Amino acid sequence: MAIEAYQIEKIVEEVMRKMVSGGSGDSFAGKAKGIFESVDEAVKAAKAAQKELVAMRIEKREMLLKAMREAAIAHAEELARLAVEETGMGRVTDKIIKNRVAAEKTPGTENLQPSAVTGDRGLTLIERAPYGVIGAITPSTNPCATVINNSISMVAAGNSVVFSVHPGAKKASLLTVEILNEAIEKAGGPANVLTAVASPSLENTNALMKHPDIKLLVATGGPGLVKAVLSSGKKAIGAGAGNPPALVDETADLERAAKSIVAGASFDNNLPCIAEKEVIVVDYVANQLISYMKQNGAYLANDREIKALMDLVLTKNENLKAEGCTVKPEKLYGGINKEYVGKDAAYIMKKIGVDIPEDTKLIICEVDEDHPFVLEELMMPILPIVRVPNVQKAIEVGVRVEHGNRHTAVMHSQNIDNLSAFARAVQTTIFVKNGPSYAGIGIGGEGYTTFTIAGPTGEGLTAASSFTRQRRCVLVDGFSIV
Ligand code: NAD
Repeated sequence: MAIEAYQIEKIVEEVMRKMVSGGSGDSFAGKAKGIFESVDEAVKAAKAAQKELVAMRIEKREMLLKAMREAAIAHAEELARLAVEETGMGRVTDKIIKNRVAAEKTPGTENLQPSAVTGDRGLTLIERAPYGVIGAITPSTNPCATVINNSISMVAAGNSVVFSVHPGAKKASLLTVEILNEAIEKAGGPANVLTAVASPSLENTNALMKHPDIKLLVATGGPGLVKAVLSSGKKAIGAGAGNPPALVDETADLERAAKSIVAGASFDNNLPCIAEKEVIVVDYVANQLISYMKQNGAYLANDREIKALMDLVLTKNENLKAEGCTVKPEKLYGGINKEYVGKDAAYIMKKIGVDIPEDTKLIICEVDEDHPFVLEELMMPILPIVRVPNVQKAIEVGVRVEHGNRHTAVMHSQNIDNLSAFARAVQTTIFVKNGPSYAGIGIGGEGYTTFTIAGPTGEGLTAASSFTRQRRCVLVDGFSIV
């Protein structure tokens, strides 16, 4: 088997890294930069680093950010491959895009705009100051992109960070921390601005949440995690689950809508929290939309296949096992089978004995509005489609199945009143009109990028200023020059 040039380069890089860190790659503690055995050690090192960081000029901080961005771009592919290999979820090409946009489009210190009030009694200045050491908990679904994005935002704001990474994405996440730390040091910054524990676990995350030197917690993950940080008694930013509906009304450009929905819902095999999780389409245009979706790489499952997929990717509701139980068949299912999260469409279909082309992007299926595929956040390339008689019903269903997450919603329509009506009703942090969901985080849409979208706690699309405290400095009777 011939080895490609880029593979040789990666092998050399990896060997060099191991020689420098003296480790096997499996045990990072004490060998890799910023990785510690215990939460206490990691916090202590990050606390010392923050003192040095905050004493540096903003100009210098920008140089550190530049170095972090360049390192993340240089390693975007390596990290994407490692994340897919380790977690068994997602697509390398899409993870490369995520790592790159996180590096390129996460705002820096320019996001920390001060404000001033002047008048008869002088000048008051409001500036944005760091919290100190932040505890950041990251997911398995976007492991490297979240570490890159959080690191740039948090360091831009003058904080150091202790990461508690997802145990299932430990290698990829810790390597990202190490690469960024190296870049900071090489650019003349302090050691250990970014730290993590070598063996991430629930126990260590809980220790981090309780640590007295952690001044802010930032949680990117599912509902259990967000609840845990919000119950910690500390200031917390919670970026939780979504279940984004994509509405299509009779005025939509159907070809464009179909293309956008397939692209958004299949991106990284539907792992992103912002990805379209169900389509609600007005009956009059449903057949045409489905036909265009098929032309754009979607496979339409039949009723028998839908049933087999339910048995495969959903878990049974153990409470309803009793014989003679008369509930709707959908209610017999409890949650999702994590084994299929982020897997390829062809892989999933093969498991139910159906061969489809390997490059099939998405499995689509027609179901009703109470179907578990609609109600559950599947995070796999299975997209349910619900027909409704009119746009009013589409909005009603869209609002209901978003579950009040206030996360993301998408609508395809040429009718401004319909677009406004859904946007007002659904109240999401991100609302994308006539494009794929990822346009909402700056991929093919205007605006900066984040991988921590804080709906529950209201910071929205987080950036450097989200990780700052406001401070007011008042000069009495002076410096107002008008
Ligand atoms: P997850 O909730 O399983 O894990 C996230 C992190 O939290 C991990 O580090 C995990 O170890 C830890 N954790 C989980 N439960 C915890 C608890 N009770 N106490 C302490 N720590 C806990 O999430 P995941 O499967 O990796 O990611 C997918 C979920 O995250 C989806 O629901 C997705 O929508 C959401 N997500 C949201 C955003 C956002 O910006 N809003 C971004 C990415 C992912």
